[in-house]
Amino acid sequence: MRFCVLLILLVFTSSLRAQSGESLHLMIISGGHSFNESAFFSMFDQMEGVTYEHIVQPKANELIASDEISAFDVLVFYDMYDEISAPQKQAYLDMLEAGRAMVFLHHSIVSYQKWPSFIDIVGGRYNQSDSSRILSDYRHDVDIPIHIEKDHPITDGVEDWTMFDEIYMRCEIKDDVIPLLSTTHPESMPLVGWINHFGSSDVVYLQAGHGVGIFSDSNFLKLLEQSIRWSAAHHNE
Ligand SMILES: [Zn+2]
Repeated sequence: MRFCVLLILLVFTSSLRAQSGESLHLMIISGGHSFNESAFFSMFDQMEGVTYEHIVQPKANELIASDEISAFDVLVFYDMYDEISAPQKQAYLDMLEAGRAMVFLHHSIVSYQKWPSFIDIVGGRYNQSDSSRILSDYRHDVDIPIHIEKDHPITDGVEDWTMFDEIYMRCEIKDDVIPLLSTTHPESMPLVGWINHFGSSDVVYLQAGHGVGIFSDSNFLKLLEQSIRWSAAHHNE
């Protein structure tokens, strides 16, 4: 009898934890691009039950290729980095095959210009330097009308709105991504948030995130937190 009560109590508490958003430990990866660190990290400081370690490249790629990666529930990429070894590339592919939760933000779509498979991971590519293809471009300080493309746990509670941030132009986007956010801004790439399936993972990409204004935009904060929580829950089902 006592065992039974204990069991019920255990099941009850674990379902409560799942509902309120289980505590999550993030690896937040930067490197290769400067940013306003205090404004950026204040977004994560506001997330209840979320802890993180900020790892700057090349250290992050070393950890990704090691057993230490298992200490993290979600990897949040905010790096813009080009150096990656063959074993580190394989570690990325292995993580995705294993169904690890990953969220890519903003200029992380510019990373690894010389690694063709990187577009298959993120779902899109900002072409910075390959002049044999259409080159991408950017513009800062733009009012960007955002349309919610899909009812989804990531977009839950967010209505169409206009945000102020940086646009990327002429990026390549894979045809089979699941659109979450779009914009009618004539210069921007048309999709600015999506889910890309790769291996056993569903990678989330959010294009916004240059800052600093966007770091206190309540809609962006909600999308970011819901991307992280959905990724964690979805990949640890
Ligand atoms: Zn930027």
